[in-house]
Amino acid sequence: MTALVIAEHDNATVKSATLNTVTAALACGGEVHVLVAGENAGEAAKAAAQIAGVAKVLHADGAGLGHGLAENVAAQVLAVAGNYSHILFPATASGKNVAPRVAAKLDVSQISDITKVDSPDTFERPIYAGNAIATVQSGDSVKVITVRGTGFDAAAATGGLAAVESLSAVAASDKSSFVGSEIAKSERPELTAAKIIVSGGRALGSAEKFTEVMTPLADKLGAAIGASRAAVDAGYAPNDLQVGQTGKIVAPQLYIAAGISGAIQHLAGMKDSKVIVAINKDPEAPIFSVADYGLEADLFTAVPELVKAL
Ligand SMILES: Cc1cc2nc3c(=O)[nH]c(=O)nc-3n(C[C@H](O)[C@H](O)[C@H](O)COP(=O)(O)OP(=O)(O)OC[C@H]3O[C@@H](n4cnc5c(N)ncnc54)[C@H](O)[C@@H]3O)c2cc1C
Repeated sequence: MTALVIAEHDNATVKSATLNTVTAALACGGEVHVLVAGENAGEAAKAAAQIAGVAKVLHADGAGLGHGLAENVAAQVLAVAGNYSHILFPATASGKNVAPRVAAKLDVSQISDITKVDSPDTFERPIYAGNAIATVQSGDSVKVITVRGTGFDAAAATGGLAAVESLSAVAASDKSSFVGSEIAKSERPELTAAKIIVSGGRALGSAEKFTEVMTPLADKLGAAIGASRAAVDAGYAPNDLQVGQTGKIVAPQLYIAAGISGAIQHLAGMKDSKVIVAINKDPEAPIFSVADYGLEADLFTAVPELVKAL
């Protein structure tokens, strides 16, 4: 029984979601290998080889793999899939783009968004926006799995000494090609990897106010900034900041929600945070039901006061 983890990386470094996925793979009980499919991705392969618990790294390098195009990465996974009992992807935008193709081609069911491994064929996953946990047993010969990062601790990024084996890259598909990417540069930690997140809601009222009120708090705390869907839909914050059922799932050490009501779809994305602080002027706001610390106050006064006090 051997599990294959598909690394999420930028050709130079391995992204943190890979580390949580390795922990899930180790829980499946067998040896763990990691596939690094990229272009000039030698550094990422070296980094993967250092992850504690990894026995082998497969490194496929080719022009078609440089930008993580789903058709090409899926074909690369399928080229080695026959050697594995479990194939695990982080449940991130790119993992979720590739995993269903692999599952479909192998004619097996995908087991999505697992938060616990009960045994090599039985897994737990949240359903109904996290209000119930389904225990799923799979009789498929290969388990194709996406892993919710917040359900598993990160494996240590160093300490491992895995061998790196080169694979020949599959031919690039002509179904898609890379045109370009526009990546917002930010000094802030990435939302899903941040230890502290400060999130703003509809109450902020405008993009200008969102920035004016939330940025100083994030700066003081070295935090990532998040937002509710209402704030994103209203254009106060960019789409990639959305936390929740249809946004990002986060579980930082500290989550501060300012002017967020705590709708079930928002809670689905952040209720596993270690400490939750809510600032809301409505004492009945549902966010207070999950908050460890609640401040019934006007955020336009409370947040600047907090910044001053920090
Ligand atoms: C299928 C589906 C998926 C969804 N996915 C998501 C998702 O991923 N993420 C998400 O967030 N939502 C999601 N939603 C939307 C969700 O249902 C809520 O509409 C949304 O979360 C509300 O955002 P909000 O709390 O910012 O706004 P509101 O619900 O309008 O809450 C604003 C809060 O601010 C408080 N407030 C107002 N003024 C002040 C002030 N001056 N100081 C302090 N507090 C103040 C109010 O008391 C209120 O509690 C989804 C909905 C659906 C149907």
